[in-house]
Amino acid sequence: MNTTVHRGTAFVTGASSGIGAVYADRLARRGYDLILVARSGDKLKALAASITDETGRSVETLPADLTKMDDLSRVEQVLRTDASITLLVNNAGVGATAPLLQSDIVKMEAMVALNVTGPMRLTYAVAPAFVSRGTGTIINIASIVAIAPEVLNGVYGGSKAFILAFSQSLHHELADKGVRIQTVLPGATATDFWDAAGLPVGHLPSEIVMSATDMVDAALSGLDQGELVTIPALPNIADWNAFDTARLALGPNLSHAAPAARYSA
Ligand code: NAP
Repeated sequence: MNTTVHRGTAFVTGASSGIGAVYADRLARRGYDLILVARSGDKLKALAASITDETGRSVETLPADLTKMDDLSRVEQVLRTDASITLLVNNAGVGATAPLLQSDIVKMEAMVALNVTGPMRLTYAVAPAFVSRGTGTIINIASIVAIAPEVLNGVYGGSKAFILAFSQSLHHELADKGVRIQTVLPGATATDFWDAAGLPVGHLPSEIVMSATDMVDAALSGLDQGELVTIPALPNIADWNAFDTARLALGPNLSHAAPAARYSA
């Protein structure tokens, strides 16, 4: 399929496999040129060739380890200076399934570097450019563990809660400056993620596992519908709306000069 619409360049991290590779394919079909980032340069090149073949879009690859400051700086520089970039997908991430007492702190720290520091720095790099042009979109891939931290490893849940809160704040600060934010909370999705996280996806009940193509197509439909938060598996959006309305209703009562009556002697 050769698309005729041109929507600028989409910058996708973690594009060498799984969810990121599907985003790359779908965004090219929607008329974006692509810059694809991950550590595996060979996989990125193969994907780029097949996408260009099928869509005619230009696809650049930018091999980088987003936990390494030198690589991160190189990637940030592209986001700051390439004025063709109209969409950033912060997708690269790793997870873990082991509880705290069985987890290696060095791996936990590396997870925070990739899942938290990476998207934060890339967002800081691109946001001023989007604001100065009055347009741009940032899609942040969180997870359902952002609101269900008991499900997997706690550092992973915490890293995704950061992405959700950061995205809500970005929307609050940047929506009126022309910048669109969407955060996606996938449930279990059939990718290599699970092998790396220590629990092969085949061990999960099949009724809770979505394909990566269905997940990304649903998330892009959520983007088209203007959602700030997209939970692809959630049957009834009213459930999320009630949850968020309850959160916002706490606002006026979260800071007072005096402690609540239940805390007085
Ligand atoms: P995946 O297939 O393992 O993909 C992870 C991607 O991140 C790969 O392209 C990998 O490429 C890249 N990556 C890993 N470490 C990196 C590093 N240090 N620097 C740069 N890139 C790196 O898993 P996935 O399921 O598609 O995961 C994508 C996102 O979805 C993650 O943020 C994950 O937390 C989130 N998510 C996944 C699920 C699920 O059930 N699968 C559910 C909720 C949320 P290289 O190895 O080539 O670097």
